[in-house]
Amino acid sequence: MKGLLKKVRGYSYEELLDRAFSKIPVRDPSKGVVFELPNIETIAVGTKTIFKNFRNMAHAIGRDEKLLMKYLVKELAAAGSIDEAGNLILSGKFSAQVLDKLLKRFVDAYVKCPTCGSIHTVLEKSKKAFKLRCLACSAETTLPSF
Ligand SMILES: [Zn+2]
Repeated sequence: MKGLLKKVRGYSYEELLDRAFSKIPVRDPSKGVVFELPNIETIAVGTKTIFKNFRNMAHAIGRDEKLLMKYLVKELAAAGSIDEAGNLILSGKFSAQVLDKLLKRFVDAYVKCPTCGSIHTVLEKSKKAFKLRCLACSAETTLPSF
């Protein structure tokens, strides 16, 4: 019975430890400040959705607004444009919740340092990939571009 249990689990102590650690969420090392996205303000106009504080949002996460728009329109399969006031105008109807979910995904993938969890990072573009460089721990992560 003992032998069977061992076989079923199939992980060494070290492996289990690694797995346990990899599941612990990383925090911003600057005293555990949890980064929160500003609330999304949207209004529906006909068949369009206007993301009103889009420019502020891009600013809050320190990313180029055109890049952020590119990500959102791709994920939503919608057309989008940014007007002079910094509103993002999307074709189609999207709730603030949907946009919020996508933004969080974007932040997790393209803003947060996977090594230390800091959001003080820069994203460098090259032809086929992005390089996420952390200003807190100087880790560099290569990410697929979109
Ligand atoms: Zn880092």
